[in-house]
Amino acid sequence: MRSSDFPILKQQVHGKRLVYFDNAATSQKPQCVIDAISEAYSTWNANIHRGTHHLSQVATAKHEEARSILAQMIGAQSSKEILFTRGTTEGLNMLAFCFGEAFIHEGDEIIVSAMEHHSNIVPWQMLCERKKAVLRVIPLREDLSLDIEAYKGLLNERTKLVSVAHVSNVLGIINPIEEIIRLAHEKNIPVCIDGAQSAPHLKVDVQALDCDFFVCSAHKMYAPTGIGLLYGKQQWLEQLPPYQGGGEMIDHVRWSGTTYNVLPYRFEAGTPDYVGSYAWGVAAQYMQDCGIDAIATHEQELAAYTEQQLGQIEGIHIYAAGQKKAGAISFNAYDASGKLVHPFDLGALLDQQGVAVRIGHHCAEPLMDELKVPGTVRVSFGMYNDKEEIDLFISALRRAIQMLS
Ligand code: PMP
Repeated sequence: MRSSDFPILKQQVHGKRLVYFDNAATSQKPQCVIDAISEAYSTWNANIHRGTHHLSQVATAKHEEARSILAQMIGAQSSKEILFTRGTTEGLNMLAFCFGEAFIHEGDEIIVSAMEHHSNIVPWQMLCERKKAVLRVIPLREDLSLDIEAYKGLLNERTKLVSVAHVSNVLGIINPIEEIIRLAHEKNIPVCIDGAQSAPHLKVDVQALDCDFFVCSAHKMYAPTGIGLLYGKQQWLEQLPPYQGGGEMIDHVRWSGTTYNVLPYRFEAGTPDYVGSYAWGVAAQYMQDCGIDAIATHEQELAAYTEQQLGQIEGIHIYAAGQKKAGAISFNAYDASGKLVHPFDLGALLDQQGVAVRIGHHCAEPLMDELKVPGTVRVSFGMYNDKEEIDLFISALRRAIQMLS
């Protein structure tokens, strides 16, 4: 798929063809997105919303058009339900704060899963500490999938919110979020989906999923860094207090008190990243032109092929092998005596051969504790990767293991 649209991929690293397999951390950007940023600053940059002059009106229109494109992309009912954030992390912190202020009291419970990214753990821990609430964790089965029976047992009248990843950033597993949402809704409990690793790889339809909140980051979706979104059903967002105070989020400010703006602006204090939103809209259209289902199929084929090739190397352990995955695969290598080959050493030797992978705990330390390893090697794909690159990665990995054994 169109790797020629991504200028950064044309370079060599350490004299070798660059194989970029760190897409779960961030994706590369196509030329049209790079051009969009340059176009914004070259032709229409001006602060948005309050300007009467031409450039400000153009900038405002571009920003709001991007909001509509993204609303349509994730299947929101209205663009009012799209709140721009700095990324998934800020979206989750925002939700933990606003939802926490409105709805969480002493003794209430919030459910996350054992495979969450720190961004979907720590904001809830902080909220629980603030409100004397309790964080419950959906455990994993032997095969590392979520234990849905145990989840059913966790849902009770004290549960106020469930927040789980759509796709694990470590294991690549696609979680059964339809079932997770249905089971929570049977008890009138709202659900937040961390879509950081699903929105870049799968067609997301928040109305079909019926999730109450959804967060994602632009930079993992072929768009610039520094912007993301928090989707919320309008009836929920209407009930939440503002997050930050400042310009844009107000209706009127008087010494006697302040009234707040309507959705979505009530949650968007200060000058937003309107160049980022515009470029994200361009990236979203690029993804749609490529076909999101086609991207998903392509990446799932790459994942299946990688697992098959990795499976032929002695001493490789693939986590959650054989399960349906989007975008990412984690593994470790063990030497003939069964000792873990340190992922850091493998990562360094792969880098020397031009292959960019991520090693470490992937911001999921509780999951590493569960796997009883300090870290894993993670390969993660984007639409521009291909089988030839997997072959290069596999030979580089064989060489690295040989050198370390
Ligand atoms: N959740 C998941 C599942 C992620 O993979 C990531 C990024 N690695 C985040 C949250 C945080 O995203 P960001 O750093 O863009 O805020």
